[in-house]
Amino acid sequence: MTIQVFVPKFRVEECLSEIRECLEQGWTGLGFKTVSFERAWSNYTGLPFSHFLNSATSGLHLAVHMLRTKHGWADGDEVITTPLTFVSTNHAILYERLTPIFADVDQYLCLDPDDIERKITKRTRAVIFVGLGGNTGQYERVVELCKRRGLLLILDAAHMAGTRLNGSHVGRDADCAVFSFQAVKNLPTADSGMICWQTAEDDERARKLSWLGINKDTYARTSSQGNYKWMYDVEEVGFKYHGNSIMAAIGLVSIKYLDQDNAVRREFADLYEKRLAGSNGVQTVPVAPGCESARHFFQVRVKNRDEVMLALNEGGIFPGVHYRDNTDYRMYASQAGRCPNAAAASQEVISLPLHLNMSQSDVRLICDVVSRSAR
Ligand SMILES: *Cc1c(COP(=O)(O)O)cnc(C)c1O
Repeated sequence: MTIQVFVPKFRVEECLSEIRECLEQGWTGLGFKTVSFERAWSNYTGLPFSHFLNSATSGLHLAVHMLRTKHGWADGDEVITTPLTFVSTNHAILYERLTPIFADVDQYLCLDPDDIERKITKRTRAVIFVGLGGNTGQYERVVELCKRRGLLLILDAAHMAGTRLNGSHVGRDADCAVFSFQAVKNLPTADSGMICWQTAEDDERARKLSWLGINKDTYARTSSQGNYKWMYDVEEVGFKYHGNSIMAAIGLVSIKYLDQDNAVRREFADLYEKRLAGSNGVQTVPVAPGCESARHFFQVRVKNRDEVMLALNEGGIFPGVHYRDNTDYRMYASQAGRCPNAAAASQEVISLPLHLNMSQSDVRLICDVVSRSAR
């Protein structure tokens, strides 16, 4: 028996019956289940607009692309972001020929608003905030700072499906929020995501751009019977980023269990917290006040990470690292050395296994190994 860091849990029979409907009706693409899932997501989160995509990476790119073109940003204009994230976040900036500027992280391993403020220049246009592991960090201060300094805000909510801040789902106060439903995220499909804008105008444009820029309204106007389907217009160059009904079918099942599953994750996290309290050499990463975290992962920091990892591996336990400082990668190396907290965290963090297929005794076992090997 091994214990992996992430293992998705699917309600197989329910998923198969949702997927069967798609196959029987011969409708696996855009429309049908994607429409139901978008509605279910807006009902669940209270976010006014939800558009289903093939991944959160697509969503982040679309968000940056739409803001850049809407506001006329020039090549090389700057977006402040975190070096402690999955590279999707920062690639989205590079795709649009903008410059990612790294600000440092705080004790929550999320962007530190004070360092964002220090990194603002005349060319800064936006901030991408990542809710690491489902944590909101100092998000409210970042929202306030962006308003005050006239910066746009994208929330990379890839880990935040089900996260509440002061009782409300996150995303309403960002210009755009992007969620991931990739297989190991809290709301698993296989690969998909959701982009949530605040206005009907942005949402409509996102729908066009996620389907190559095709404006369906043209033929919708031409004939309510759906004739003249080829008589559409293409107003700008878009992408093939929309989601499909098979993924949405799985999402429709997963969303029913999201709160329940996240509650189990929080129980495991609390147990980790309790059993590791007072262990020498082990520091846990706190959840911000007011945040009910989706607990995408549970992180500890240790000074002797290689040793702790080895001890865990020997016990059949395979944790993860979220994340390596992106400036360790050649693509982002030119900014190395400007974010000391992120660089330190990158050497120390371990994500302990946290998923729905493990037990409390697994947590106890893992804690024993960590306590024994950390120094
Ligand atoms: C997983 C992840 C993404 C990308 O999500 P996909 O749906 O796999 O494209 C983006 N940002 C962060 C922080 C992630 O963890």
